[in-house]
Amino acid sequence: MQPHAFGYARATSVAEAVRLLRKNGDRAKILAGGQSLIPLMKLRLANPEFLIDIGGISELSALREDGEGLSIGAMVRDREFEHAELVKTRYPILGDVVKGLGDPQVRNLGTVGGSLAHADPAGDWGAALLALDAHLTLTGPRGERQVPIDEFFKDTFATALHPDEILTEIRLPAPVPHSGSAYQKLKRKTGDFATVSASARLALNPGGAIVEARLGLGAVGPTAIRAPRAEAFLAGKSPDEATFAEAGRLASQESSPVPDLHGSAEYKRAMVAVMVRRALETAAARARS
Ligand SMILES: Cc1cc2nc3c(=O)[nH]c(=O)nc-3n(C[C@H](O)[C@H](O)[C@H](O)COP(=O)(O)OP(=O)(O)OC[C@H]3O[C@@H](n4cnc5c(N)ncnc54)[C@H](O)[C@@H]3O)c2cc1C
Repeated sequence: MQPHAFGYARATSVAEAVRLLRKNGDRAKILAGGQSLIPLMKLRLANPEFLIDIGGISELSALREDGEGLSIGAMVRDREFEHAELVKTRYPILGDVVKGLGDPQVRNLGTVGGSLAHADPAGDWGAALLALDAHLTLTGPRGERQVPIDEFFKDTFATALHPDEILTEIRLPAPVPHSGSAYQKLKRKTGDFATVSASARLALNPGGAIVEARLGLGAVGPTAIRAPRAEAFLAGKSPDEATFAEAGRLASQESSPVPDLHGSAEYKRAMVAVMVRRALETAAARARS
């Protein structure tokens, strides 16, 4: 099938994109990497009359670290996390994410901002960035506002973005000493979306006990979700096998998967426990290294 006819403009600045979005209202959609939007348009499940391409706005493609942490422009493509030295040395969890995301063609075009704005509960970025306490910058006609990722996902394919706003930046806090994070994804085969995914960030004290834990889960709820009971359980514990197994069990109780082609709800719940445990083990190993 082919999409309905649509108008197209390539914005050269965020201000121009916001102006076009405001002018065209509900008829318009932002085009980032097109890896979710274009397939939906071809199936005529999305029928925007006007596309505003933000691929030419250079300020949205910057990936840089400053004193406060990592700044990811909304148009940074997935592939950029595969080989960046900054990712390998400081934020290896981002490398975990793209290793299992789609295929090389998808990663060449897909963007972090597009994935978050699309808000697929099985999307890799949402589940991973929940554990990292990301803060998102949303820019609209009234200026910029910051939204913690905990408040961004409202429902399946629904976010805190107003219709005239663009997600422009994702900020991650700088890793504190003795901390580590990791992402684990269970999928049926290469290129598939997650059957279940889990992310973990751990901070240890100098004695080796867990000071703080954050967990993100993907594909097991209407949105990517946290696992607050498992997180609270981890605080103050020793980062060992028994602790991680119990945290996985608690997280699986906090998940609400639905059965589908990927597996039954029971199977997915069992896999939450495994993915959480593995993510915690890798996060702890990175925190100690
Ligand atoms: C074969 C295939 C396999 C895939 N596998 C995976 C996978 O394993 N894991 C995974 O997570 N994803 C997967 N995807 C989806 C892929 O990651 C998409 O790139 C992503 O979901 C959307 O990003 P995009 O840049 O392509 O956004 P687009 O498709 O351009 O946009 C998606 C939606 O977000 C809106 N939008 C985009 N950017 C912004 C912005 N900055 N501000 C406001 N709104 C915006 C658009 O208007 C649209 O509604 C796959 C896709 C394909 C085609």
